Amino acid sequence: MHVVRPAEVVPDKSYSGLPPARILLIAPRNSYRTSTYIEAARSMGLEIMVASEGEHSLVSEIAGGLHVDLDDPAAVDELLAASRRKPFHGVIATDDASVELGSRIAGALALPHNTPQAAILTRRKDLSRERLHAAGLPVPGYRLVDLERPLSMQLEGVRFPVVVKPIALSASRGVIRADHNAELLSACGRVETLLAAESPADPTERNRILVEEFVPGPEVALEGLLRGGRLDVLAIFDKPDPMEGPFFEETYYITPSRHPARRIGKLVERVAQACSALGLREGPVHAEARICRGDAWIMEVASRTIGGYCGRLLRFGTGHRLEELIISHSIGRPLEIRPDQGAAGVLMLPIPQAGILRRVEGVMAARRVPFIDSLEISVREGYELVPLPEGASYLGFVFARAPNPEQAEAALREAHAKLRIVVAPLFRMADGR
Ligand code: ADP
Ligand code: CA
Repeated sequence: MHVVRPAEVVPDKSYSGLPPARILLIAPRNSYRTSTYIEAARSMGLEIMVASEGEHSLVSEIAGGLHVDLDDPAAVDELLAASRRKPFHGVIATDDASVELGSRIAGALALPHNTPQAAILTRRKDLSRERLHAAGLPVPGYRLVDLERPLSMQLEGVRFPVVVKPIALSASRGVIRADHNAELLSACGRVETLLAAESPADPTERNRILVEEFVPGPEVALEGLLRGGRLDVLAIFDKPDPMEGPFFEETYYITPSRHPARRIGKLVERVAQACSALGLREGPVHAEARICRGDAWIMEVASRTIGGYCGRLLRFGTGHRLEELIISHSIGRPLEIRPDQGAAGVLMLPIPQAGILRRVEGVMAARRVPFIDSLEISVREGYELVPLPEGASYLGFVFARAPNPEQAEAALREAHAKLRIVVAPLFRMADGR
């Protein structure tokens, strides 16, 4: 089995001679990407300041905390004032919700950055569709529907199947396939209820939804790093389970891709074109596309990493992790990118049904499956499980590293088969007890 030593203990000559630097990490509350960035900064001997929402920003020996409200225009001045007190040498935004603020700070400090306009395009699915369509990239036909106006006229003549989705949520929340009119109306109603509960501050994000043509075909994800407008590919993942809907849960991600080189070439070309159409020039890129009719149809381009647990799969050159490459780039000291040998995969454990998690059986047996690197259940017993399209989390993650992608996928499937997830039904108290 492929043994990976944690990066902290891998002696790494490339960092020696690096002057001490201070990184600003801008993260929404509860971002699962924060801790992997902190670990990476620590292994590189860099200081990291985490600007986040919430009263108790995390503060530890290596990471300082600053409180900011990501949606408050004053956040820019507050963070620039912090930099005047003690300079930041690099700025990283962890999530879609913080990339715009990150771009403003990095821009003001003359550090590698995207324009705020480009950052907004990656967060807003409607604006991004419009831009990519105008640039002639293969994107599904779409319409922007106003939930406050009668639907029938706005939906006239749509060609089924379609996909209904909010314009600014993530993790496939509210993304629903509809095959005919009745399904379409019910999907719109379901997304409307979800948006009413989420209540985004921006009225457009609350009232508008996208209705898109369904693009068939296998889905792939590309993890990349932009440097001065040039896209370097860090990894390409296959998603071997067909994603046909009605909901679009992520499950298996396997790298390297098993698609023929020609297709991969097309994918890379299309993602690079999409980045340039959106105005993205610097930093991480996570793109998703579907292979259809000899082309790579862009589902989404985000200017952040795949993130958190999944990023851990990737190792480069002398054992660098994904976040180390991103941090090095942010401080203007790019590392050489050399992909690791072998294959890796992750299974994001789907939530099998709504209810209360009682227990997960078979964890030990699943961990013993050859090539399984780790398995973590992230929901605690007794907590409520909310499946898609409303839910926002996974039950847990299983990781595999193997000599080739077939073995990585087979190991994850075998581990999954050993798990039994016991869920108790949830009875809502309707009688006032
Ligand atoms: P999110 O930002 O919530 O992940 P996406 O727009 O990326 O939302 O959609 C999530 C998933 O839904 C995609 O990865 C894809 O599998 C599926 N999907 C979304 N739009 C389409 C479409 N037009 N055709 C086919 N599948 C789609
Ligand atoms: Ca997506």
